[in-house]
This record gives sequence, C-alpha cells and structure tokens, in this order.
Amino acid sequence: MKVLVINAGSSSLKYQLFDMDAQTVLAKGLCERIGIDGKLTHQGGSDEKYKADVPMSTHADAIKAVIDILLDEKWGVIKDMSEINAVGHRVVHGGEYFADSVLITDEVIKAIEACIPLAPLHNTPNLIGIHACEEVMGKDVPQVAVFDTAFHQTMPPKNYMYAIPYEYYEKYKIRRYGFHGTSHKYVSQQAAEMLGRPIEDLKIITCHLGNGSSISAIDGGKSVDTSMGFTPLDGLPMGTRSGNIDPAIIDFLAEHEGIDAHEVINILNKKSGMLGISGVSSDFRDLDSAIAEGNVRAALAKDMFNLSVKKIIGSFIAAMGGVDAIVFTAGVGENDRSVRWDVCEHMEYLGIKIDPEKNKFRGRQMDISIDYARVRVLVIPTNEELVIAQDTQRLVSEAAAK
Ligand code: AMP
Repeated sequence: MKVLVINAGSSSLKYQLFDMDAQTVLAKGLCERIGIDGKLTHQGGSDEKYKADVPMSTHADAIKAVIDILLDEKWGVIKDMSEINAVGHRVVHGGEYFADSVLITDEVIKAIEACIPLAPLHNTPNLIGIHACEEVMGKDVPQVAVFDTAFHQTMPPKNYMYAIPYEYYEKYKIRRYGFHGTSHKYVSQQAAEMLGRPIEDLKIITCHLGNGSSISAIDGGKSVDTSMGFTPLDGLPMGTRSGNIDPAIIDFLAEHEGIDAHEVINILNKKSGMLGISGVSSDFRDLDSAIAEGNVRAALAKDMFNLSVKKIIGSFIAAMGGVDAIVFTAGVGENDRSVRWDVCEHMEYLGIKIDPEKNKFRGRQMDISIDYARVRVLVIPTNEELVIAQDTQRLVSEAAAK
C-alpha cells in the first residue's frame, strides 16, 4: 500500500509518500507560498533535490503540483496517480470528538469544522488540504485524519479541567486538550520497545522539545497529563511562545501598552519565549552561539527553559507516583545535549543520572543513562509522518475487511 501523508498549513503543504509494504519513504517535499506565487521543494526519484517556482494559487494547485512531480520521469516515484492508495492528513484539533485517527466522511468533516473555533489557524488549512485532495484525486481515494489532540483524550478530568466556572467547559469546551499527541504516542511506544517491556507496565515522561515544546505523562501507554493546554501556548516557554504566565499579565499589558487582549496573545505567541527573553533568536543553536560570546540574556532564556522542563518532569513524577523512563525528542530534545544535561542534573535522588559520554550522541535512538540508573533516559527521534501513514494503513485496511 502507498500512502501520501499531507500536513497542510495556511500557505504551505508538506508531503511524504510511503511505501508501507517496503516500509520506506519514496519521496517527500514542501509546497510554500501557496496563494502568493508558489515554490516546490522535492526529494525522490534522484539523489538531488528539486527546487522550482510552480504557480500555486490554491491548495488544490499545490496538490496537483505534488502529483505531477510524483509522476515526473526524472523526479517521480510512481507511474500513475492510482498507485496512491490512501491519503493521511495531520489535523491539529479533534476536540472531544476524536480519541483516535478516523477515516474521513462527511460527518467527520463536520466535526473537524466544529473544532475550528478551538484552532482556527490550524484546522482551517487542514480542512482545505482534505478538500484539495478530494478535488484532485477524487472521492474514491480514502482519506484519514490523524489528530494532534487524540492521544491526550485519555486524560482524567482532574488533569484536563481548568479551575474556572464549570459552565465555560459546558458552553465552550474550555479545557486542556494537549498537542503533539502523535509524537508523544510514537516515542512512548518506541521507548517500551527499547526497554523490552510491555507499555502497560511502564510510567513514561515524554519531552517533545522543539520550536514548540510539550511534555506528557504516559501511564500504562495512556496519556494522563500534558503541559500544553486549551491551546499550544500553555506549559513550557518555547521558541517564541511564553508558556504559562499569570493570566492577569494580559489585562495589565493591554492597559499599559494601549493594545487589546488579542494583540497581547499575539505577543505571547510570536515574540516571547526564547526570542523574547534573549532578544537574539528563537533557535536554540543561535542561543548557544550567543551564550558562547557571553550573552547573558541568551543564557537566561536557556536556563529558564531547562528549569521549566525539570519542574514539569518533577510534577509528573509526583503525580504518577514514579517514572521508569524519560524520553527526549524533537529538534532540541534529539540534538541539544546541554538541555538534556541541565534538565537531568541533580536528579540522582530520583534514580535519574545521564552518562556524559553517551549524552554526546545526537539525532539517533539511544539510552543515555548511566548503567546503574533506575530510570532510563532515552533519546528517540520522533516520526509523526510514519504514525500518520501507519494509522492510515490500519484504518483503510480495517474498512476494506468489513
Ligand atoms: P522542531 O520544531 O522539532 O523542528 O525543532 C526545531 C528546533 O530544534 C530549532 O529551532 C532549533 O532550536 C533546535 N535544533 C535543531 N538542531 C539543533 C542542534 N543541532 N542543536 C541545538 N538545537 C537544535
């Protein structure tokens, strides 16, 4: 089975074509500047990278461009569009409707639409991507939605409710949803495999640390708590997001800066976090370069990040009554050894101690704890696209067997 995985944003669209039988990625690429002019970057069919200006006034144009390049004599990897058996879409918000991935039907589309107020910047382009695929590939190619929120639907109410009047949960469904669920699920399952133990017996804390960051507590394979909330703004300070702050700051800033709450939230989303504190960059590599040159605010930003990660890990250990493994994943978690070191420092009393030599490795699956540590600290590269492809294959095969 060949599965096309699509991650549609407002003006961009990432794709990967998987051959599920051979367990390989046949091609991948990115459409950018959709609705502006259009740029296509593609890898497949050749070792070189293909880059070209391709006019894309709509997402359907972008999907057409993807199909064309997948069929291309030099750069392509298939001979006919009918070789694509199914499409898997990343959809950010499934609200309380979806606790698993789902085959897309008219009813599912309505439910995704109903979640637009919860994530307007994400669900809207995700839906446009779904409609564009249907337009270009026809109704007969099955499409599957894989939600960032679904894995966290197992959280108990005491962890997902906010202590605000209950009516706001009933009226507007204001609660913690959590994000990066596909990644937390994947790396927790990989962790159980690495440890050679059933996931049902394990308490795992997964740290997805990238430009956006979240941490999850996974007990017996189920997400029981996570640091992102109603929106991805909650929890850790991130590349440009503030993470959790005293909500009274919003009103104070609005009044003193003469702006409205919407603009304050924009500042908290786009100008805060590592960028806001350091004044240098949201990218951890730039922070490291600035720190090496003695930049005190860059060092402060990273210290704040590392301490926040440590505090959330500590709170999840307390709430779960222990931990068997801590996983680091995503851009920062997989690559930044100083983050891993600082987060795990002085946690020996909890059975956590990483080996400085093993911690030097980056970007590959590895147990970096010292041999005798009770808690295993693991680096596991995430692979959200693979999970989307696997879920798509599972649901399409199940539907065919009915
Ligand atoms: P992601 O959102 O998972 O793609 O992660 C992106 C972030 O990972 C970037 O903004 C960088 O801050 C960070 N990153 C990537 N590579 C490295 C590296 N070699 N060392 C430190 N940070 C890195």
